Amino acid sequence: MRLPLIAGNWKMNTNLAEAVKLVNDMRPHLDAIHDVEKVVCPPFISLSAVHEILKGSQLKVGAQNLHFEEKGAFTGEISPLMLTGLCEYVILGHSERRQYFQETDEVVNKKLKTALKFGLKPILCVGEKLAEYEDGLTSEVVTGQLKASLKDVTLSENLVVAYEPIWAIGTGKAANGTQANAVISRIRKIIQELSTESTSQCVRILYGGSVTMDNIQEFAGMPAIDGALVGGASLKPDQFISIVKQTAQINCHSQE
Ligand code: PEP
Repeated sequence: MRLPLIAGNWKMNTNLAEAVKLVNDMRPHLDAIHDVEKVVCPPFISLSAVHEILKGSQLKVGAQNLHFEEKGAFTGEISPLMLTGLCEYVILGHSERRQYFQETDEVVNKKLKTALKFGLKPILCVGEKLAEYEDGLTSEVVTGQLKASLKDVTLSENLVVAYEPIWAIGTGKAANGTQANAVISRIRKIIQELSTESTSQCVRILYGGSVTMDNIQEFAGMPAIDGALVGGASLKPDQFISIVKQTAQINCHSQE
């Protein structure tokens, strides 16, 4: 049985004071919800403060990126050595990194290997553009991204994959639950091809793209979907708490 995971990607939002307030506002509510793993991914400058606040909490911390080198002349970058001890997860290959910072699958692959080497759990994002979706290329695109990003990686349950159709991110137009479920089942097949049946059954695969408290049930209720990567709604305590709560309720019922 895979434990559902809800991760909030705060992106380039919140200064230090706002991040501290946001996590303090959400912590008691989220700590009271069980049967779901909960992660917040604040901007780098707030990671340390959020980590301190969450000591002793079940709410976990993730980073939004890392550099694949350990240290050196890479001005402005953050190395895995700076993240270990501060966070458990790291989002890699987000479509905004691919689009605005020219991150290729090869770079994502290097970052993923580095994250695993330093004990950080990657949340690997894959997903197709609108034109690719309209041309029926979703499976092809996602398969290509997965195979290239996971090249020569020994897979384990530490890997999390997020299927995030680019046309659904920040647009308010979420994918349809049935379609997302089908893509995620396909992703699990590919992970099986790249590892083993038992590993593929342990890897959690999330849906991401305009998830809110009004549509989470459509995704969390699907058999292949193990939770969500949430952007905009993760900045609103009521929304994020409700998303986690509803996911926990669905998980409870599916175990009955
Ligand atoms: C994201 O940034 O990964 C994301 C899914 O954003 P949103 O929920 O705002 O679409």
